[in-house]
Amino acid sequence: MSGEEELVGQLLAHARFLGSLSSIGVPPPAAPSATAPSAEAAPAGTTAADGPSLETIRETIGDCRRCKLAAGRKTIVFGQGNPRAELMFVGEAPGAEEDEQGLAFVGRAGQLLTDIIEKGLRLKRAEVFIANVLKCRPPQNRNPEPDEIVACQPFLEEQIRVIRPKVLVGLGKFGAQWLLKTAEPITRIRGRVGSYQGIHVMPTYHPAYLLRNPGAKKEVWEDMKVVLQLLGRRVPG
Ligand code: URA
Repeated sequence: MSGEEELVGQLLAHARFLGSLSSIGVPPPAAPSATAPSAEAAPAGTTAADGPSLETIRETIGDCRRCKLAAGRKTIVFGQGNPRAELMFVGEAPGAEEDEQGLAFVGRAGQLLTDIIEKGLRLKRAEVFIANVLKCRPPQNRNPEPDEIVACQPFLEEQIRVIRPKVLVGLGKFGAQWLLKTAEPITRIRGRVGSYQGIHVMPTYHPAYLLRNPGAKKEVWEDMKVVLQLLGRRVPG
């Protein structure tokens, strides 16, 4: 894809985001004023390109009531990490611990994800960005439902557009299927590199699955070695 085509794609995605805001009852953000700070002066967490920053996306989400999960959640879990991350993980939805703390992947599955990042990939957790398909905890940790995924979709789309990582890792069925726009089972798509808006996508098993099936860790390690290659980093022997 040429740089120009990529830019057009990004502008279209941004336009879709703004359109989706009004379709779900949110006025689009005001156009920047002539006195708005320049890109160079932008605080950490904003993009150099024009368009919303992660902070703007968070403000747009507000005290979200766009789907039925609002009734049972304690905290909106926006996702956290490096706003300029080269590597971004997309999980399913917050669990109990995440709902308490307002942070993605901080429970038992989160500890295992930290090990994958720090011991496996030899990156710092703060270097990557971690988010979920849903920003609110489903009751009893049930699976996300289609209307919830649709309501939350514009925000994750926009986060990815702003961060623009080199590689996305889809964790488990929901993260992987969302990124690859497929209904194929995770067992079939795992380990097969795909693409989301021109960004490499590695679908792999969810850390919660690995807690129940530790034997599958070796497949995840194979996937992480490919992720390192895609990032242009050294792959441990
Ligand atoms: N599982 C997920 O998919 N996301 C979290 O943030 C925690 C557990």
